[in-house]
Amino acid sequence: VVSWSATDTGVRVDTGDDTYLAERLILTAGAWSVHLLAELGIPLEVRRKPVLWFEADETHRALASPDRMPVFIVDDEHGEFYGIPQHEVPGVKIGMHSGGEAVDPETVNRAVTGDDYEQTIWPFIQRNLHGFTGKVLDTSMCLYTVSPDEDFVIDRHPEHNRVVFATGFSGHGFKFTPVIGEYLASLTGSDDAPVRPDFALSRFALVP
Ligand SMILES: Cc1cc2nc3c(=O)[nH]c(=O)nc-3n(C[C@H](O)[C@H](O)[C@H](O)COP(=O)(O)OP(=O)(O)OC[C@H]3O[C@@H](n4cnc5c(N)ncnc54)[C@H](O)[C@@H]3O)c2cc1C
Repeated sequence: VVSWSATDTGVRVDTGDDTYLAERLILTAGAWSVHLLAELGIPLEVRRKPVLWFEADETHRALASPDRMPVFIVDDEHGEFYGIPQHEVPGVKIGMHSGGEAVDPETVNRAVTGDDYEQTIWPFIQRNLHGFTGKVLDTSMCLYTVSPDEDFVIDRHPEHNRVVFATGFSGHGFKFTPVIGEYLASLTGSDDAPVRPDFALSRFALVP
């Protein structure tokens, strides 16, 4: 989607190759909401979140399987870290939930760097876990879209009733996907459907 616009009678979405006309529009652009909904000035911070898959040593490899190792979250003096046992792909997945460099989704460095490994994730493993060789088997770069209170931002567009958006999932939106889908459908299906104040845009003092 390159751009969108709305009138009293409908919405228009431009993809560069095609133009789509519809009655309603739901925008769920994740980190890219900062650009697609820029005119709203939602105070969102996009954070760079490296994720690494670590090799368990031979003695401990069997313990890294899902029937032996739990999914975990650890909150220590350096931040909140999580891990997921070896499942389908080699290695135990480890990432840091808290913190993260503020970035622009268009220009973020998507390569996991030596600093990501040495400054945050590997020291966490050394502090709290054992049985890892230190070898990284795979990496991925994710993005969090963080709102000031870390709650979601789901609302109607203040100037276009036909446009509903959901963003600011702050690193914990995935598990709510079904209920957010239902909520978005309700907001889109009826102009009278109430907006939940917890997720409303009005809770932020927006700068015009
Ligand atoms: C490493 C990591 C671990 C996580 N772990 C968990 C977890 O354990 N539990 C949990 O609940 N949540 C977790 N999350 C958070 C969860 O993934 C997000 O909250 C959720 O994906 C946000 O959904 P979204 O639809 O807002 O954005 P996204 O999932 O990012 O989806 C946005 C989509 O819009 C597309 N898009 C953007 N701009 C355009 C455009 N202009 N045109 C067309 N398409 C566009 C993007 O390509 C993307 O597919 C994690 C996130 C990360 C990064």
